Amino acid sequence: MKSVACGEDGGGLEAKTSCGHILTSRESNEGLFRNQIERDKLFEITKRFLAFAATFSLSFGNIIMNKLGLMQPNFFKVTHSYPSSIISCIHNAPPHGAAEVSRITSLVNESTTSRVLKDVHLSTQLLDGFLDLAEDNTSKDLETCGVLGAFLKEGTYYVTTLIIPKQDSTSSTCQAVNEEEIFAIQNEQSLFPVGWIHTHPSQSCFMSSVDLHTQYSYQVMVPEAVAIVMAPTDTSRSYGYFRLSDPDGMKIVRECQETGFHTHSEPLNGASIYEDCSNIYLNPNLRLEIFDLRH
Ligand SMILES: [Zn+2]
Ligand SMILES: [Zn+2]
Repeated sequence: MKSVACGEDGGGLEAKTSCGHILTSRESNEGLFRNQIERDKLFEITKRFLAFAATFSLSFGNIIMNKLGLMQPNFFKVTHSYPSSIISCIHNAPPHGAAEVSRITSLVNESTTSRVLKDVHLSTQLLDGFLDLAEDNTSKDLETCGVLGAFLKEGTYYVTTLIIPKQDSTSSTCQAVNEEEIFAIQNEQSLFPVGWIHTHPSQSCFMSSVDLHTQYSYQVMVPEAVAIVMAPTDTSRSYGYFRLSDPDGMKIVRECQETGFHTHSEPLNGASIYEDCSNIYLNPNLRLEIFDLRH
């Protein structure tokens, strides 16, 4: 169909369809409108089909590749689960505020954030489970990093998944490789990337400038994103739950073009560039699944 210019009254103009039928502009506008709806519907159906096909082919492909022995044996497989999947279920997370759930308050400073953040529940097994899996690296003074996946239920994030990607580490850095494997698990399970966890095997518990940039990339996606730092040799503080202050810390890192280790100016108003989280809860009933993709 030819495109038509629409007059003020919506009538009086004509257009010819490809089969020669003459339409008034009102008719052709209605036709265009219907076509638009149909196109939108078609687009939506196509999108759903492609998403389904991608999921299906991924799962099916995994089965085939596993059968053929072509795949890392634990790719997409839960390698650790706390507590046993028999006695707990992620969808039966206890209601917010249950007596067993403890809020992290001991080390929390006054938050500078002006935004109201959703609560984030973590399994009480998360820190120890991660530290156990990091132990080999830690003993060699190498960092280990992992990604936290959460589902959102009634305004609360529940971290149910820890993904430990293939990674390159030094004593002060850790870089995930094959990141598409992380995204595949997150997509497959519809998880929000609510943060990350890493060790400082020989350094103290703090956020390096590189850590701040990594945290920015999480926090810009999910404002509740948390950076958990585990420093087993720091006798004054062995772990911390950190975030960039918002807006001050976020602005400084957003505008920083530097890479590698560097210094950041502190916010002019006396605030810190990063702070302790005040919205983290430890939940003993929350199931935790770990995908260790390193081996
Ligand atoms: Zn670090
Ligand atoms: Zn920077």
